[in-house]
Amino acid sequence: MACGILSHIKFKTRYLGGYMDHRLLEIIACPLCHGKLSYDKENFELICKFDRLAFPFRDGIPVLLENEARILPTEENQ
Ligand SMILES: [Zn+2]
Repeated sequence: MACGILSHIKFKTRYLGGYMDHRLLEIIACPLCHGKLSYDKENFELICKFDRLAFPFRDGIPVLLENEARILPTEENQ
């Protein structure tokens, strides 16, 4: 279980006032493929390029759930 990591993220994002730290991106991973996520600061989402999913934030906490994620259009090539 990733409970320890999640509470750490919660603390970190609160501490940073919702600002995503790049160090945070190194400890969190996609719940599907366990790949690295990238932060989209324009949409305030965490992006998995492999699954083409965008995970939202809720109260400054990343919601890493497949059913909460937004499917990215395939044309959006980064
Ligand atoms: Zn993924």
